[in-house]
Amino acid sequence: MIDPARLAAALREFRAAIGADNVFDDDADRIAYSDHFAPDETRHRPGAALAPATVDDVQAVLRIANRHGVPLWPISRGKNFGYGGAAPVVKGSVVLDLSRMKRIEVDAENGTVLVEPGVGFFDLYDYLQAHKIPLWLSVPGNSWGSVAGNALDRGVGYTSYGDHAARICGLEVVLPDGALVRTGMGAMAGSPTWQLYRGGFGPGWDAMFCQSNFGVVTKLGLWLMPEPETVAGIDFEFDQPDDLGWAVDTLAPLRRAGIIQQAPSMGNWLRSAAVMTRREHWTSDPAPMNDAVISAIRKQFNIGWWSVQVRFYGPAELTEASMAILARAFDKKPVLAMKPVRWKQGDPPEGSPFSGVPVSFPLANANWHGGRGGHIGYSPVLPPRGDLAMAQFRRTHALYEKFAMDYHASFAMGERSLTNVNQVLFDRDNPAMMQRVDQMFRALVADAHAHGYGEYRTHIEYMDLVAGTYDFNGGALRHLNQKVKDALDPGGILAPGKSGIWPARWREHGA
Ligand SMILES: Cc1cc2nc3c(=O)[nH]c(=O)nc-3n(C[C@H](O)[C@H](O)[C@H](O)COP(=O)(O)OP(=O)(O)OC[C@H]3O[C@@H](n4cnc5c(N)ncnc54)[C@H](O)[C@@H]3O)c2cc1C
Repeated sequence: MIDPARLAAALREFRAAIGADNVFDDDADRIAYSDHFAPDETRHRPGAALAPATVDDVQAVLRIANRHGVPLWPISRGKNFGYGGAAPVVKGSVVLDLSRMKRIEVDAENGTVLVEPGVGFFDLYDYLQAHKIPLWLSVPGNSWGSVAGNALDRGVGYTSYGDHAARICGLEVVLPDGALVRTGMGAMAGSPTWQLYRGGFGPGWDAMFCQSNFGVVTKLGLWLMPEPETVAGIDFEFDQPDDLGWAVDTLAPLRRAGIIQQAPSMGNWLRSAAVMTRREHWTSDPAPMNDAVISAIRKQFNIGWWSVQVRFYGPAELTEASMAILARAFDKKPVLAMKPVRWKQGDPPEGSPFSGVPVSFPLANANWHGGRGGHIGYSPVLPPRGDLAMAQFRRTHALYEKFAMDYHASFAMGERSLTNVNQVLFDRDNPAMMQRVDQMFRALVADAHAHGYGEYRTHIEYMDLVAGTYDFNGGALRHLNQKVKDALDPGGILAPGKSGIWPARWREHGA
């Protein structure tokens, strides 16, 4: 519980420090910074929000928050739909909205960018286009968010630069006590290699600020893909649910060997249908969709039970050879359809995340059920093996059926792992459905845990639940995280509860 008198005193100082126009604390503001995909937005409703414009402002805000013991929740653009949007774990926290900080510095020759947190994917795309810089982004499926916020949450995209956290090179961070640090080569004043060499000297800290509450990132270095001469690939359709197993076993060795360099994502028939249509178009039966309805959807969109798109980037000699290897791997296998896709410099862009073009239309899937829609992400990480993928699919599918929800999932092939990304679509105006979603989510996390699978990312409501599944040696990692937290943030003011990490002052709330 945040003490209202402390909050009021802190707000007065915030106004003096960053300007009254940049402090938002009426009801409309609190609603605006809530999680609009939550069944009950009030559970994580912030007490206020602040929008600093400079690093000095951020430092001043953190010092004030420490003086008054008021918790802050940093966001870059706060578009973390499916994981909590802009809202904090602890109700009444003050959202630290960094979206006014929008500086972009591109090193076109070396293919890097240094962004402030407010730089959105659309902003950076427009900047590269306007300056005719031949570098490509990697963007998430819904690209309304920020380059920095997405990477810090270990977000993913669809080109070979799609593991965004892995492309971070150098951060500038304000620590909870207001101190300013730069990581890697940035630790040397004026170093020209801050965005070029990750290691620096001594321990590396970039990963420590991903999915953590150890600091406020005010600048983030990222590597970008030089515009390829060509893109080539194959769109695959598979007819049967069981095709998932052998398809994973076909793709995994190519991914491991570095032939496939992006993370192909095998998604089921609902992926297209939920973006392009609404459920009522297909059926009025609230039970999970039956085979006849699934067939009708597949027929309209001309898709398989599963679809996957594989892309190669580079000179034609490389992309064509890679295509041939991919086609050979699937030769004589029961693929429903294989459609080659080719692009070369000078052609109009494919206009999708596969060519790093930001899009926002996938957000339409929130309308699937009608009412005020939304979704929640459930994404356990598996070994990249077909039999394990099939077992995961069957168990998860059975839970969707048990809780009467429409199965909406994909399996994304990492270099050494397979992430089963589920977007559970719901209607927030249907309380019975929302109750089922909560029960199903808890059952899914328990099921994954029983098999040794942890989620790579989760919604603010379930951060303790998921952190609790990382249980080796009595939760030793959580203890380490909390020791670090207490050392860096003795006042416990920065994002208490994020990723299940509670500072000492708040520990009775969580672990
Ligand atoms: C239809 C749909 C499709 C989606 N597809 C994808 C997808 O393909 N890939 C994907 O990754 N996501 C996807 N998302 C989820 C989400 O929309 C994106 O990840 C989005 O980029 C996150 O919002 P953001 O970038 O504004 O980050 P924010 O909401 O600003 O932040 C994300 C997290 O990082 C922390 N954080 C942010 N900035 C800082 C900072 N400066 N310092 C310290 N901590 C910070 C925040 O506290 C928060 O926990 C999808 C969502 C929808 C609705």
